[in-house]
Amino acid sequence: MAAEFLVKLYEYSPVFYICVISVCFIITTTALLGYGFGFGIPVILQSIDEAESFSPVPEKKMVQVTNPFALEMGTTAGTVADGVGLRPYCLEDCVLTCFWGCGVQALQAVLQKHQHRTRLSTPRSFQEALQFHYLHCQTFHVQKEERDECFTELPADVGVWDFGPLPRDRYPLVAVLTLANAEHRDSYNIVASVTVLHVPDDKYRLSARILSQYLHTTQGNTYDLKPLFMSTDSGEQSGSSTADTGPQTKPPEEEAEEPEKEEEEPGAPGRDCVVCQNAPVNRVLLPCRHTCICDGCVTRFQHCPMCRAFVVESFALANQTLPEGESEE
Ligand SMILES: [Zn+2]
Ligand SMILES: [Zn+2]
Repeated sequence: MAAEFLVKLYEYSPVFYICVISVCFIITTTALLGYGFGFGIPVILQSIDEAESFSPVPEKKMVQVTNPFALEMGTTAGTVADGVGLRPYCLEDCVLTCFWGCGVQALQAVLQKHQHRTRLSTPRSFQEALQFHYLHCQTFHVQKEERDECFTELPADVGVWDFGPLPRDRYPLVAVLTLANAEHRDSYNIVASVTVLHVPDDKYRLSARILSQYLHTTQGNTYDLKPLFMSTDSGEQSGSSTADTGPQTKPPEEEAEEPEKEEEEPGAPGRDCVVCQNAPVNRVLLPCRHTCICDGCVTRFQHCPMCRAFVVESFALANQTLPEGESEE
């Protein structure tokens, strides 16, 4: 049809035909080059990145708190039959209470209970709150700032060698750290740390590891500790999880019910920003939790340079780089 029309047009007037073809060519070319010719034709050849207009990534408000408790797996990779080594490190004298075969529902109830009614800050209060829904309880006294490994095992006379097929109604091991002296409970915001551990047995051989960690505060809040993902290139820190990186502070993250946020102690300084390679890493990007850029570079990205996830907000690991006199809103 169109070809027929063009042939007729050419027969009628070759000059007019050439003019029509030329006009079509010019319109197409100008549209592609982005001049638009006043027709509101979108710019096609312009880079998408250039067109993006940056609005600064919002800063998440955080509060720095001192966490007196830290717990990591010991050197002996354990099993339910052989027991497991735990390495607590505490800023004060503490009590480590190991609940073997702790009921999943009972533990959830305990975490709720702390928020609603009773403040759980002693091994006894945990035992009662768990309503003895555990198979065996073992207690260790942890000296202030000692890194001794505590070896805990499920006694043979309990007669349990595995916790059955998945899904399970009991956690293999729950380790609770509480302050040994009552007077210290007033000097720390955090009164207890609850660590849920997986310990392998014949039915489920996944190696021993920390599944989750919670902190109880004096105000009755429970924080779920979440990992930060940062490079381990320039230090021996385990890095992949804040739960494992040093005892002084941890970033308990609130579940969006209060405006304030907890903040972590500065990590090993001098880690290079992956973008400018010229300043220490100081920014945690949310929600992906990659910790890979400096304060300067955070303003230049809306997507995480590691995983390309959209950055909803960010917070600083250490706030020493804030300009003087500037309040944190
Ligand atoms: Zn940078
Ligand atoms: Zn990321």
